[in-house]
Amino acid sequence: MDKLSLGVDLGGSHISVAAVDSSGAILLKEVAPLSRNEEHDRIIDQMIDMLRSLRQNPGLNGRQADRIGVGVPGVIDMDRGVTLFIPNLKGEWRGVPLKDRIEGALDMPMVLANDVRCFTLAEFRFGAGKGSTHMVGLAIGTGIGGGLIVNGKVHTGLDGVAGEIGHIIIDVNGPRCGCGSYGCMEALAASPAIVSMAVRAVRQSAGATKIAEYAEGDLNKVTAETVARAARDGDFHAVEIMDRVGFYLGVGISNLLALLSPDCVVIGGGVAKAGEVLFEPIRKTLKATVHTAPLDKIRIAAAQLGTDAGVIGAATWAMASA
Ligand SMILES: [Zn+2]
Repeated sequence: MDKLSLGVDLGGSHISVAAVDSSGAILLKEVAPLSRNEEHDRIIDQMIDMLRSLRQNPGLNGRQADRIGVGVPGVIDMDRGVTLFIPNLKGEWRGVPLKDRIEGALDMPMVLANDVRCFTLAEFRFGAGKGSTHMVGLAIGTGIGGGLIVNGKVHTGLDGVAGEIGHIIIDVNGPRCGCGSYGCMEALAASPAIVSMAVRAVRQSAGATKIAEYAEGDLNKVTAETVARAARDGDFHAVEIMDRVGFYLGVGISNLLALLSPDCVVIGGGVAKAGEVLFEPIRKTLKATVHTAPLDKIRIAAAQLGTDAGVIGAATWAMASA
C-alpha cells in the first residue's frame, strides 16, 4: 500500500498537520490556532499532540504513516534538525532540538525544513511547477521567502540556507530590512512595504485615491489585499503602488533568471493573490531587463496549492528523505 507521511506547517498564527500520500493528496488535515503568547515548549507540545491524534485518527483506515516532515518559518540547521532563528514566533527558538523532541515523543523519523522551501517542493511536484526541471519558488506575504529547484531537486546550499530570495538586494540605497541589510526585495515588496506606500498615498493625494474607502476609512485597516482590490478597480494610486511592487519583484526575479535560467517561476503567498495587477508589471519588468535567459520559454505562474502547499511540501520532504 502507498506510503503516508505526516506534514506539519508551523505558521505565525496557526499549526497545520496533515497526512499526505505520495501523490501529494491530503487524506486528513487539522488546523489549530496558535496563541501569540505561547512559549516554544508549549508550541512543540501542541504539535506533538496534533501529530499523535492524526496518527490515530480512524479516518486513515488503518494506513500507517512512517515519517514526519516539519516546515518552520525561519532559519534552521537542517542536518541536526535544530531551529536557529524564527523571528515571527513567540518563545526562544534559538538552538531548539525540534527533531530530537518530536522523534522522541512519536518514535518516528522526522526531517526539519524551512516552510517556503516546503512550499517550493510542493508546487514543483504537484502544483504550478509540475513538469519543470529548474524552478524558483517565491512566497510573498509579511516577508518574502523562496526556494530553488535545480535539476529536479531542492537546492539547499551550504548550511541549508539557499533560497533566501527575499534578501536579494534590489536597491543599495533602499530602506532597512529586518535582516539588517538595506534595500532587500522583502523591505521593498512584502506587505508591510505595500501598506506603508498606501498610507503615504492616502495622506499625500488629498482624496484622489480611494484606498482608504476599501479599508472602511481606517488607515490601520489598510492591507496589501485592500490595495490590490483598489488597483483592480482602477484606482490610479493603487495601480501605481502595485506597478512599483511588481517592478521591484521583476528586478529580483530578473537577477534569478540570469543566475539560474529556470524554466518556471512560481509566485505564491497572500500578496500574489493580487493577480494580474501584480503579475503584469512583473512580466513587463522582465521583458525590459532579461537579456540572457530565454524569457519566452520561462513560465511565470501563480501558485496552485494555496495554503496547503506548506504541509504537503513538508510531508513530501520527509518522504523524499526516506
Ligand atoms: Zn533583508
